[in-house]
Amino acid sequence: MLCDVCSAREAVVYQRHSGRALCFKCFREDLLRRVSAEVRYYRLFTPNDRILIAVSGGKDSFVLLDLIKDIHRSELIGIAIIDEGIEGYDRLSQAKWAIDMAEKFGMEVYITSFKDSIGFTLTELIEMAEKRGIRITPCTLCGIIKRRILNRLARHEHFDRVITAHNLNDEVQTIVMDILRLDLARLVQLHPLSPLLSSNFVRRVKPLRRIFEYEVTQYAFLSGFKFQEEDCPYIKALPSLRARIRSRMFEMEGIKPSYPLNIIEWHDRVVKKILSRWDLKMPELPLCPLCGEPMSYGRKYCALCELLMKLGVSAPQAGHKAKV
Ligand code: SF4
Ligand code: ZN
Repeated sequence: MLCDVCSAREAVVYQRHSGRALCFKCFREDLLRRVSAEVRYYRLFTPNDRILIAVSGGKDSFVLLDLIKDIHRSELIGIAIIDEGIEGYDRLSQAKWAIDMAEKFGMEVYITSFKDSIGFTLTELIEMAEKRGIRITPCTLCGIIKRRILNRLARHEHFDRVITAHNLNDEVQTIVMDILRLDLARLVQLHPLSPLLSSNFVRRVKPLRRIFEYEVTQYAFLSGFKFQEEDCPYIKALPSLRARIRSRMFEMEGIKPSYPLNIIEWHDRVVKKILSRWDLKMPELPLCPLCGEPMSYGRKYCALCELLMKLGVSAPQAGHKAKV
């Protein structure tokens, strides 16, 4: 079957939400066009911004890096690889391809770890939590620490944006979770135009937020990306609500392929209206007295310091800098 766009090359992808069969070249151009449009529309970053791309080593970060390098100047791109320190899982070898790609295109490479930044690996922290009977899922702990390390690294190295590889399905899962939890503040914060609550935060943006997960998988596969044989052993402990929403979403996508896109468009419209009608100017977030990082209003310490204290670990020093 020939490509529905160029009618010249063999189609290799069926894009079910648009109903088109595409060759690899037209598929890639379609993804590039949609990602560039999203970047421009929401000013996710501007042509002179220095951007720090968080790279896990998985297919999503491959697709993100492979597309972004074609729409932004390489010398303004840095990649960050964070080794969580997970027993039986080698993050650095999973992300080796990204280091090679960054070096080939002249991007900066930052490698850091939980151990270097907070003194403990994720596995050590999980064991401490288990011993003390503290109920926290590995992914929640991992997420809090990774966000902290990335933000601090981006701020110290003067990046304008942190870029993550969340795709459309990830975003829609988060929207549905926030709705189920009736958490309007988080729903607003998820929007690309949401107010930045602290001058110590570097804005995090998601250029793949309108690219379906199946497109990311197809693109990685067709590009010859070597899929990881090993998954993080904690993936089975993913919060069950997200896992359930994810599988229900796949079922619904099978019936109505454009359904995730409709949800994100609804979210974009509603939050845009809220942002334009209500004065959402919030005071600057207070700083944690222990680590000096922003924390939510009304807290004594930030969530990370509080967690580390519960685990019996002395809190990080104020202004502690991630080693890179
Ligand atoms: Fe961290 Fe969970 Fe991802 Fe493992 S699966 S790297 S614990 S967020
Ligand atoms: Zn703190």
